[in-house]
Amino acid sequence: MGAENKVVGRFAPTPSGRMHLGNVFAALIAWLSVRSRKGELVLRMEDLDTQRTSSDFADILRDDLRWLELDWDIETPPQSMRSAVYDRYFEKMMDEGLLYPCYCTRSQLHSVNAPHLSDGTYVYPGTCRNLQTPPPGRRPAWRVKVPDREWYVRDLVQGDYRLNLATGCGDMVVRRADGVYVYQLAVTVDDGEAGVTEVVRGMDLLSSAPRQMYLQELLGFPHPTYGHVPMLLAPDGRRLSKRDKDLDLGELRKRMSAAELIGHLAFAAGLIEKDAPISAAELAAEFSWDALKGDSIYLQL
Ligand code: GLU
Repeated sequence: MGAENKVVGRFAPTPSGRMHLGNVFAALIAWLSVRSRKGELVLRMEDLDTQRTSSDFADILRDDLRWLELDWDIETPPQSMRSAVYDRYFEKMMDEGLLYPCYCTRSQLHSVNAPHLSDGTYVYPGTCRNLQTPPPGRRPAWRVKVPDREWYVRDLVQGDYRLNLATGCGDMVVRRADGVYVYQLAVTVDDGEAGVTEVVRGMDLLSSAPRQMYLQELLGFPHPTYGHVPMLLAPDGRRLSKRDKDLDLGELRKRMSAAELIGHLAFAAGLIEKDAPISAAELAAEFSWDALKGDSIYLQL
């Protein structure tokens, strides 16, 4: 395999608590996909939200990944240290006339005038796009104009997914009024600069892919391949989440070995035929994306 088609994957956790099963599953699949093709894996801490994240949680996260035997090749600097880098891309968009200040308050954004989508998000109606007189004394957020154009994601798990950002999202905030860059911009820049060719993460982020594809195009990065892995559900159909404290790694590490946990996840996902302990390295030998389908997986632990 030539260097030009080497797979570069990544795992980009938010160090805001102990890893839960969904994070473990996404990390496992990202790792398997890369390792089964002798690629490279990048680790990055997504700590833009400095109130909720900490370097202690980041240390525990690395320890949990080592316990799972999911290794990485490099760790790139955490997002909280990269605002000067994001500034450069922000200025490029500004120079190209793609950005405008937005003074809308939270309550204006959630008002009945903004069209709401079935998932509870709203489409920004462009209120400030042609604003003549900005309100005095308020710091604006900055939005990027989105074109009326459909984006196609050919997802390794979810198949074809389309979104027109103009009707499904509206002009996107790239920098908040407090100066903090938003997830979509930071991820696009970080993945692009790290040369990531494959983004694997939870299904809940599928609608972020077209947003990031648009920013990739504006900022001059190639599109990676996407694989949005199914969400994990309890046997009663409830989505497993960070709130299930008994299922975070702090608790699970007391109850079972890494090979047992990986065996349960791999079996539930249809990657192995029997629910038996297996290491990540053993799984990598037979990993295929074809086995992984659907938007949810039932898991009994
Ligand atoms: N930091 C996000 C999370 O922990 C993942 C973002 C991504 O993979 O793009 O849910």
